[in-house]
Amino acid sequence: MSKATCSFDSCHSEVIAIKDDNIINLPEQVYSEFKLLENRTTRDIPPNESKFLVVSDVWDFDNVGVSREIPSSLLGDLGDKNEFVFEYGNSNWKIKKCLKYLICADCDKGPIGIICQVQDQENDEERVLHLLSLRSLQIMG
Ligand SMILES: [Zn+2]
Repeated sequence: MSKATCSFDSCHSEVIAIKDDNIINLPEQVYSEFKLLENRTTRDIPPNESKFLVVSDVWDFDNVGVSREIPSSLLGDLGDKNEFVFEYGNSNWKIKKCLKYLICADCDKGPIGIICQVQDQENDEERVLHLLSLRSLQIMG
């Protein structure tokens, strides 16, 4: 199983073990929309792939930090401005709102992902998921 680790040389802290079944693809614009950190040195992930790991339980992380500071432009409902929809657990979810940022627990660098409120496109059920940006990290193994 691969591991996602912090991409900074002085850190390399382990963030999570990657379960391939939980990987989703989001549109490229998600990086600019949420101002996510991009690890430009990685050779493991082609730059055109916007892969995210969906984590439903925060305890699945080995190490992760949470930042409450979110740019004011992201505080509101995303509405129909952006359609970030992905399939997870037999449902299609739409990102409604970014609640918090994920950062490295050791060096505080990031954001490496978002904690967001998502809505089931079929029955409007809402839940909170962690979306970890694999392009913001270093993938080992
Ligand atoms: Zn770090």
